[in-house]
Order: sequence, then structure tokens, then C-alpha cells
Amino acid sequence: MTAQDQITTTPAIAIEHLTKRFSENTAVDDVNISVPPGSFLVLVGPSGCGKSTLLRMLAGLEPPSEGQISFGGKIVSSGASGVQTNAAARDAGLVFQSYALWPHKTVEGNIDWPLKVAGWSKQKRAERINEVLKFLGIEALRDRYPAEISGGQQQRVAIARTIGPRPGILLLDEPLSNLDAKLRVDMRSELMRIHRGTNATSVYVTHDQVEAMTMATHVAVLREGRVEQFGPPDELLLKPQTTFVATFLGTPAGNLVPVSRSEDAFVFNGINLAPNAIAPDLDTAQLLYRAQDITVGTREGRPTVKATYAESAPIAGQSMVTCLIGDLRVTAIVDGFFRAEPGTEIDLCFLRDPDAVFDADGRRVTQ
Ligand code: ATP
Repeated sequence: MTAQDQITTTPAIAIEHLTKRFSENTAVDDVNISVPPGSFLVLVGPSGCGKSTLLRMLAGLEPPSEGQISFGGKIVSSGASGVQTNAAARDAGLVFQSYALWPHKTVEGNIDWPLKVAGWSKQKRAERINEVLKFLGIEALRDRYPAEISGGQQQRVAIARTIGPRPGILLLDEPLSNLDAKLRVDMRSELMRIHRGTNATSVYVTHDQVEAMTMATHVAVLREGRVEQFGPPDELLLKPQTTFVATFLGTPAGNLVPVSRSEDAFVFNGINLAPNAIAPDLDTAQLLYRAQDITVGTREGRPTVKATYAESAPIAGQSMVTCLIGDLRVTAIVDGFFRAEPGTEIDLCFLRDPDAVFDADGRRVTQ
């Protein structure tokens, strides 16, 4: 079942044929994505692939050129009819990468302002401010100004300010990218708690595929404005449909080895890697090997190729070893600590048959 099939209720967010052109440049190109209420949709992809433009259209900051966006079955943006519900009226709260707090207002004042604009009474505002300060653990910062608190605390205030009016949809544009590594990990868990605690449907833009895989119920991998693959994170990791997804997701990402057919085998650098029966229609192919399916050394009966050692990084009691075979970068996993002199020739052994086969255009051909 695909993520799309699982939607039985009205989607919280339905994006249909959404396109955004900036003169000659198509930033978002015929995007179709729907998610049910309570989803955590992550938009991931390399720089310039259109993530922020898509999020800005969801926020109502940018009108689409074509296609439409509906929230809870109601059209909020349409390229054809020109409907463009303004940002404030679409029940969506936006958190940016730069916290953009009002410097002349205290923490309390920052959280209060959107509630005031939305017409909440003084008493309801006071109650809600206490609630969100407590929810985010920042009660002690109530009277401070943004310049008097840390970056991580400013981010919490920015989130508190956004969730104050209880938006049904939370839009987050790389909200953790200005934080240090440790704080990012803490805030990731915190954001998940906030997402669950608010019952909102969230859309989260990131470059960071670890963030994407940790937080998402649904992931859309974008490439040059188009959706390369959309689905639950495990489906994308286990069954990448293109070489782009296979080499973009995963820690480390998958290895792709180009092979050509020679009689009944697929061959790389003169070594038989796999029987050609795994993709009998192809003369050339790209084989996907997970890093854990390649190691340093030799094993009886398994294909081995010569490679040049480049670097190694320790990861949970193992070493992630990067090597070069000509121009091809290959990542292998070795138990324990492994290090060699860069440039040393080593053996790389393929422990298992390939995880998947892709054709020359990068499309998956195996189940
Ligand atoms: P990053 O991860 O670097 O922030 P992104 O995936 O969010 O990138 P966008 O900012 O959405 O990408 O940009 C997508 C494309 O649209 C890029 O080629 C960008 O240069 C272009 N673009 C974005 N905004 C505008 C604009 N206002 N005018 C012209 N081109 C734009």
C-alpha cells in the first residue's frame, strides 16, 4: 500500500499539480502530495530543489503558477481560479530558520502579539501564554528580551509564538539549522513532542536526511522541483525507486556500482559481481549495495575488488570506511576500529547479492 492509499479521511493537506515558475525558472514542477491529519510530512532534497518555494506556497506567501492547495478539503491556493487565502487566514503557522523574534518585545510580548492580532481576549491570551511557556519549558524567560537569551531559547520562543493561536498546520523551514549538533538532536525530539501535543499536521523542510528519517510519517524527496519519490520513510529507505533516492537517503547512503553484461554475469572491473539473471533484459545496469553489505578483506566464494583507502569514521562500534575505485566512491562497514594510510590499496568484498538493480537511466528494475 502506498502512503497515498492510506488516506481514508479528507486529507489535511492536498497538493495537486502544483507548479511555480519564476520567469524562465520552474522552481516547483507539477507536485502532487496528500497527507492525512496528524501527519509529519518532511520535504527533503538538495539545495535549490524547490523545498522552500513549496513551503512558502503552503504558507500563502507565494501564489502558485498552476495547480492548487487544499487544507482540510478547502482550497486555499489555486493557480487557475486565482484563489489565494491570505497567510493569516489559512490556519497555518510558519517557523523559519532565522527566528525573527521582535527584538523590542519581551518573550511574553512576542508570544502575545499573534494572539492579539487574532482577536483573543486579554484573559484568554494570558491563559494561553502561560500554557505555551510551560509546554516549551521557558517560563523563566518570560520577561527577557530576545537579545538576552540563547539561540536555542530563541528557537523555542519562535515555536511558542507560532503554536500560540493553535494552528491546524505547522510549517517549519529548516528550524534547527542554526543550532549546534547536540541541541539539534534535543530539539528534534522536542519538535516531535510539540507536533504530537498540538495535534497539528506538520510540514518540515530540511537538507538533513537524518532529520527527515527520524521525524517523518511521510517523506517527499524533491529533485529539480519535482517529487522524485513520496512515501513513508522506511519505504523510501528500503525500496528507493531511483538511484537519486538510493544515494540521497540512508546513513551512509547506498553504493551504486555500474556493471555491464558479460555472458551470464554482470561484471565490474573484470570481476563477476552478480548473475545477469537478476535483470536479464539489461546490458548495462547499476547495482545497489548497502554499506553493511561491503567490507574490507576477502571472504571465501564472494567477489572482491581492489580499492584505494580514503578515510574512515567510527560509528557505533564499527568503522564506516570510504574507498575509491577509480572515480567511484564506495562505503564499506568494518567491525571495530579500522584505519589505514590514505592511498593504501585494500580489498573490498561484496558480502551479499545487490539489494536492487537500476537501469542506465537510474530507474529501479527489480522488486
Ligand atoms: P535551499 O535548500 O538551498 O534553501 P530550496 O530547495 O529551498 O533550496 P528554493 O529556495 O525553493 O530551493 O529554490 C528553488 C529554485 O527557485 C532555485 O533555483 C531558486 O534559485 C529559485 N527561486 C526561488 N525563489 C525565487 C525568486 N523569488 N525568484 C526567482 N527564482 C527563485
